[in-house]
Amino acid sequence: MAIDVLERDDLLFPRSLLEFQRLFPDEAACAAYLERARWGDGFVCPRCGTTGEPYRYSARPGVLCCRKCRRETRLTAGTVMERTHTPLSVWFWAAYLVASQTPGMSAVQFQRQLGLSRYETAFQILHKLRVGMVRPDQDRIGGKPGEAVEADETWVGGRTRGKGRGVHNMVLVAGAVEVRQRKRAGSLNKRKTGRYAGRVRLALVPDRSAKSLGGFIERTVAPGTRIITDDWSGYADLNKRGYDHVSIAERGDPQVAEEFMPIIHLVFSNLKTWLRGIHHGVSPQHLQAYLNEFTFRFNRRFYPFNAFRSLLGIAGDVRAPTYAELYAAKSRTTTSSGCL
Ligand SMILES: [Zn+2]
Repeated sequence: MAIDVLERDDLLFPRSLLEFQRLFPDEAACAAYLERARWGDGFVCPRCGTTGEPYRYSARPGVLCCRKCRRETRLTAGTVMERTHTPLSVWFWAAYLVASQTPGMSAVQFQRQLGLSRYETAFQILHKLRVGMVRPDQDRIGGKPGEAVEADETWVGGRTRGKGRGVHNMVLVAGAVEVRQRKRAGSLNKRKTGRYAGRVRLALVPDRSAKSLGGFIERTVAPGTRIITDDWSGYADLNKRGYDHVSIAERGDPQVAEEFMPIIHLVFSNLKTWLRGIHHGVSPQHLQAYLNEFTFRFNRRFYPFNAFRSLLGIAGDVRAPTYAELYAAKSRTTTSSGCL
C-alpha cells in the first residue's frame, strides 16, 4: 500500500529556487542527502553489514568505504544516477526542474537550464528522469471503507487546427479517482463540500464495452470499493465483479453525471488542458505514456518531495532503468514508481 508522505525531517524538500541552491550548493551536499535518504540511521555496509562511520574521500563524495571489509559503496547504486559521469548536482537540479515544471520541456531548453555543453547529456538525463514518470503506478486505488471512487470515460483529442499540436485522433480514456473528504469542511470552503481528488488511474481503452471498462476497473481499483459511475451499460456488471456499485441515473443529461461525479470530471478537464499544453502533439501510440506522466504528477501534486525522490530513483523501491530499457519499445518495468 502506497503511503504518500514520508515524514523525514532530515530530508527537506526545497520550496523555491533559493532554497534549492541553499540545500544543494555542491556535490558534497547532494551526496550527504543521498546518504541520508538511503541510510536514515547511519551507514550499513551492504557486504558485511558493519554499521558505523565509513571512510570518506574528499575528492569522491559519492563513495563510502567500509572500515571493516574495505568495500566501497557508491551512493548512486540502484538509482537513476548510477554509472553516469554527470555530477550529482546536475542530476538534482534536473530532477527539481522536471518535478516542478509543466510538460513538454525540450531537451534543448533543458540543456540550457542545466548549463550543459553537450545536447546528448541533457537528452539522456531528461529521458532517464521521464522513465520514472511514464512507468505506470501498479497498486490499485480505493479499498478504504467509507471512501468512494468515481469512474467514467472520456474522448480525448480530435481534429486540431494545423499539425503538431494536440492529439490528432479521438481516443477513449477510462479514468478512476479516489474521492477524499477534508476533515474540516469548514467555513473556508464555502462553495464545495470538502471533497477532493485522491489518487487517480487513467488508461486508454478500445471501446465502451463492459469488457473494456469493467476490465479497467478490475485492474485499477481494489475489490470491495464503493464505485460511482453513470448508468452506462459498460459499468452494469461492477457488482458482479465484486464492487459496491452506485450508478447515477443520467437519463440522457450529462449534467447530472457531472453534478454527481464532479471529481472525475475535474480530472478529465485537467487532463485535457494539460495535453493541450504539450508542444509537439501527442500521437495515440504515445498517449498512454502521457497519461502515466499526468497520473504521476497528479498523484504527487501535494508532494513535490516524493516526485523529486521518485524521479531520482531514491524513493526506496525503484531500481535504475538501463539504457536498453529506456530505448526499448515497451517499458516492461512495473514497480510502483517509487511512491513510498
Ligand atoms: Zn563491510
